[in-house]
Amino acid sequence: MEVDYSKYEAVIGLEVHAQMLTKSKAFCSDANEYGALPNTQVGPVSLGHPGTLPVHNEAAVAYAVKLGIACGCKIAEHNYYARKNYFYADLPKGYQISQHTTPICEGGHIDIQLKDGTQKRIRLIRIHMEEDTGKSMHDQDLNDTLLDFNRAGVPLVEMVTEPDIRSGEEAYQYLTEVRKLVRYLDICDGNMEEGSMRCDANVSVRLKGAAAFGVKVEVKNMNSISNVQRSIDYEIKRQIEAIEKGETIYQETRTFNALKGETTVMRTKEGASDYRYFPEPDLPPLHITAEYIEQVSKQMPALPKELHALFTKKYGLNEYDASVLTDDKATASYFQELVQHTNNYKAAANWLMVHIRGYLNEQAINIEQFVVPAAKVAELIALVDGGQISNSVASQKVFPELVKQPQQSVLSLAESLNVIQQSDTNALQQWVNEALAKYPEKVAEYRAGKTSLVALFMGEVMKLSKGKADPKLASQIVKQTLDNQ
Ligand code: ADP
Ligand code: MG
Repeated sequence: MEVDYSKYEAVIGLEVHAQMLTKSKAFCSDANEYGALPNTQVGPVSLGHPGTLPVHNEAAVAYAVKLGIACGCKIAEHNYYARKNYFYADLPKGYQISQHTTPICEGGHIDIQLKDGTQKRIRLIRIHMEEDTGKSMHDQDLNDTLLDFNRAGVPLVEMVTEPDIRSGEEAYQYLTEVRKLVRYLDICDGNMEEGSMRCDANVSVRLKGAAAFGVKVEVKNMNSISNVQRSIDYEIKRQIEAIEKGETIYQETRTFNALKGETTVMRTKEGASDYRYFPEPDLPPLHITAEYIEQVSKQMPALPKELHALFTKKYGLNEYDASVLTDDKATASYFQELVQHTNNYKAAANWLMVHIRGYLNEQAINIEQFVVPAAKVAELIALVDGGQISNSVASQKVFPELVKQPQQSVLSLAESLNVIQQSDTNALQQWVNEALAKYPEKVAEYRAGKTSLVALFMGEVMKLSKGKADPKLASQIVKQTLDNQ
């Protein structure tokens, strides 16, 4: 069957769960730490023992407020938790403490940029707080499902978008921005492989121009941002083909199989009424004052979009360089430190994006583990700008030495490597004279008009000086000498 996919438009809304990087859990003092041995971070509250009582973790609230401020949300003055009741083996209490009717943040948005350069705003419906469940492990034992309750009670925020997303690529960019943001804010490590950031994709399709949305399907279990994109692309195609065959799309939950690149049915969707939500009686409601919001916003670091604007406006970087340098907070901080020591902002950007990044990749380390202080990189830039070493000598000879001796003066490193360019005009003049004397017939040809021969003489000068002649100055002297004699 020929299917005209272009008749259709996809409509997508994403629900992102982000585990907060608090020291302890959302409602008790059990440690919140990834990777501990199973069931070692499980006090009576995490295990839902009868008679235990939850207590608010103030840090978790502050983190949610930070995220809300960063996304331009309205922070709710009064909000409270609800119980979301359902039975599942990894939910020992039989209910999850979650916010239902009063999310801590409402509205707001995340701006994304697509590959073709277009900007788009993805609106948020809400960000609410809740607790994570334990983890069921179905593949660790031949006969039994094993349960690890370390994750039970870890604080989460859930960010829910309006159905503004139209393609797998937009979803990809949205998640990339969200991950960047939570990492900047230092509230979540954004690691989809480890599940500290998770995404459910709600996908429907409709004929282009149709007013109503189609029936949505919720896709789960994608362990990377690119798998979210793949699962959405698959799901869009599947739904269009089903509709074209005259089939009905049912509201259901599907799981993504990354190996096959396919989604398959998990369960038909439960509605909100199935959860018997009611206000959590064991926790007092939260009151968030304007002063509190003010106090939290004062502790917030500069956001990627603010740094991007600063880098383009104050330091004159182009869009691309500014995006690369603000991709993660540590790189942006290094750049900010570097430009405290040099006014050559373009060179600072290049050093970070090319040579330093190349070195980090080679060593498989990140910028936080980079041992060379920004001031030393600035010294290197100054040596190049002062004509004492060439750019290639700086990156290929001095820099590799500098990473071995990061506290050394860069000038003395260059001296001990014997790579300081000779800009003493007397020495240069001597090499030039020698070079010209070697090729009297070429000198005559030059004077007869073959000016391209300068390159030949320069090559000779560089050879005689063992590469140390300052090329700019030397070529001036070559020309002067040829033209004046
Ligand atoms: P539910 O009650 O089923 O969880 P919500 O109204 O809470 O649904 O929306 C969940 C997510 O689904 C939101 O991100 C929303 O934007 C998205 N969504 C809602 N309707 C559709 C639709 N028809 N197609 C795609 N996404 C949708
Ligand atoms: Mg929902």
